[in-house]
Amino acid sequence: MNKPASNGKMLLRVRPRGFCAGVVRAVDIVELALEAYGSPVYVHHEIVHNRYVVDQLRQRGAIFVETLEEVPIGAVLVFSAHGVPPTVRDVAKTRSLRVIDATCPLVTKVHLEALRFAREKRTIILIGHRDHQEIVGTSGEAPERTIVVDSVEAVDRLQVDDPDKLAFLTQTTLSLYDTQEIVARLRQKFPNIVGPASDDICYATQNRQEAVEQLAKDVDLILVVGSPNSSNSNRLVEVAKRSGVEARLIDEARDVDPTWLEGVRRVGLTAGASAPEVLVEQVSERLASFGYTDQRDLDLIREDVRFTLPPELATIAPARHGWRRDTNALLRLFAPPAWPSGSPPPDSKSPTWAIARRGPLPTTTITRARATWPRLSPD
Ligand code: SF4
Repeated sequence: MNKPASNGKMLLRVRPRGFCAGVVRAVDIVELALEAYGSPVYVHHEIVHNRYVVDQLRQRGAIFVETLEEVPIGAVLVFSAHGVPPTVRDVAKTRSLRVIDATCPLVTKVHLEALRFAREKRTIILIGHRDHQEIVGTSGEAPERTIVVDSVEAVDRLQVDDPDKLAFLTQTTLSLYDTQEIVARLRQKFPNIVGPASDDICYATQNRQEAVEQLAKDVDLILVVGSPNSSNSNRLVEVAKRSGVEARLIDEARDVDPTWLEGVRRVGLTAGASAPEVLVEQVSERLASFGYTDQRDLDLIREDVRFTLPPELATIAPARHGWRRDTNALLRLFAPPAWPSGSPPPDSKSPTWAIARRGPLPTTTITRARATWPRLSPD
């Protein structure tokens, strides 16, 4: 924490922000696959929607493809966190690919709901963005029964064969506010429609949006770290603006335009679920150079969600290192000089070991480790 400055400028960094459990798992899977099978490992679509993460993994030997025809017969293929339609799984089988599925379990849950509704012979109204990879995957479970809508107006235009045999589902990364409006209109127009208790928006999307709403009460401008194709990052910008605060989406620190800061006393900072903490730190450093040296973290909602690895990798990881791989992947990805491949990994239950054993680490690495393990002991 920097000392408060006398110029009144302040940076408020809200938590939760950045990586969700589904993204940690997906990044881990690619890292582990590279270690277990060697380079190259093919990844269907960007593993998560963040340019920095994709570039880092590309440098380590991952090859990102949009069609399976680009993947050699018999190669190792990872499905991204957004999920895939069954047709893609079928093509993978015909090409004898060794598939590792990094679909977020919360996306898989929506796929299973779609299958259930299809078995009940319902028409599925899928709320989401038609071109987003997740919607392509979910609608692929029952394409002949699925209609994608993205607005209240689209619901108004809807024509269905049997209004008593309808169900709705949602993308996991939508705006809570917009989705509530669309669901309300669906229920009003089709009173017998069934669906999840409220929606399928995931815990990470919800928590980050609620945190930004709170943050907006205390700042003049909110910066959201995330790539332009990241749905949940774009929704954070919208939530901030709806709360009455100017907001900007930035992919990296150098995107911050000094003219945005004219007359701005308090800046808020958050990050989408696919944006790594290292980018938040770089933005913080850049803002410090503009006089925002009073930097504080605002902890609003505690998250403690972890997803298990796919069985084929879960068995490899402990056998090779005897510890939890998600920790290793994060450190290796964001602190490569401090954690070279093959170095003995720390025990994730006592991450202090990592700092004690490896000697002095860059301050940014320690900050990152603390962000990853909030209960990290002082070094
Ligand atoms: S944003 Fe939600 S649904 Fe998407 S990967 Fe993260 S936890 Fe899973």
